[in-house]
Order: sequence, then C-alpha cells, then structure tokens
Amino acid sequence: MEGYSFELITGPMSCGKTEELLRRIRRAIIAKKRVKVISPVLDTREHGDYIKSRNGMFLEAVKVKNSLQILDEVTDEDQIVAIDELQFFDGEIIEVIKQLMSDGKKVIGSGLDLDFKAEPFGKMPELLAIATRVDKLTAVCMKCGCDHATRTQRLIDGQPADKNSPLIMIGGDETYEARCVKCYELPDKLKSERKEETKAKVLSLFK
Ligand SMILES: [Zn+2]
Repeated sequence: MEGYSFELITGPMSCGKTEELLRRIRRAIIAKKRVKVISPVLDTREHGDYIKSRNGMFLEAVKVKNSLQILDEVTDEDQIVAIDELQFFDGEIIEVIKQLMSDGKKVIGSGLDLDFKAEPFGKMPELLAIATRVDKLTAVCMKCGCDHATRTQRLIDGQPADKNSPLIMIGGDETYEARCVKCYELPDKLKSERKEETKAKVLSLFK
C-alpha cells in the first residue's frame, strides 16, 4: 500500500535532496498519481510558484506561509504530497504530516538536517523520528573533495562565519557550501575576543 507513509530525504546543502524529491515526484506522475507539491514562502532561492533543484530540474509548487495552510491546499484527490525545505516550517508541521498520513496520503519531504552551526534545524529531529523511511544523503566536500560531506558551511565574504553571526545577514557576501566533519569550521570570535580582553586586563595589572 502506498499511502499512510512519510518518506524523508535529508542531508547538507548540495547533496541532491531536491533532485531526489523531484525524481520521486516524476515517477509518481508517470504512475498517474495525483501529486501536490508544496514549498514554503521563506525559500528565497527561486521566485515563482515552483521548486527547482540545483541541476536545473523544476516543478510547479504551491507556496505556503505556514504548516496549517498545507491542509487547505491538499484535496481528497491528491494521493501524494511532496514538501520541500521542511526545515523552514513551524511546529505544526508534525501534526500536519501525521494528519496527511492518517488520511491515507503518501508524504515525501526533503530538508536540511543541520543548520550552519551544525545544530538540528527547526523541526527536522521530530520529522526524522516520525518518518517511515529516511534517506540521509551526503555531498562532495568543497574543501577536500571527499564524498561524505554532512555539514553546511556558512561563509561570509569567503571566510567561515562566526558562531554568533545572525541567522539573517544584512550586507556581506554570504554563501554556503557542503563540507565534511573534518573540514567544517565554526569560529567563536566573541569567545576569543573575550579571551583577548581578559588577557589584556591581566597583563595591565602587572604593568
Ligand atoms: Zn573535507
């Protein structure tokens, strides 16, 4: 039986999550299934009502502002519900997906498991727990070229972003790349700056 399931595709940036989601949607379309594709408005990667993978494949998608809106968009005829960028959804996403599953839908989702600090992203830990199938993909590390990059490195003006840098950057050239655990960097500048201050204070006492 196809419904009553939740397949979750996860991994770092550039691991092919959206590509894999699109591949499964295409297969469903070939099998003449009714598919509803959902994407959060927050995803600013592309404008317009479609999702696009980095290799250029794209598919029409309904953009929603919050999780509950998904239930308004999905109709009785929809057999498969595909949701991209799951890490950006609010807390209600868990109940929404459980509801879709109990309504007999097959849900296929994709999302980043970790944020740039290598900490679990949004509701992804719970989504991974309720999924009936999980595929954790790896990317090619942009620093050493190995095939098991699991983290998303944030770079500001080409330099590894500080642990305390704001989630939304204003100004500065911000980019992201996949890296392995060995090559991933997260400087904690504030702490080191504090250390320098303390050092200077201690030294001044002996002047
Ligand atoms: Zn590496």
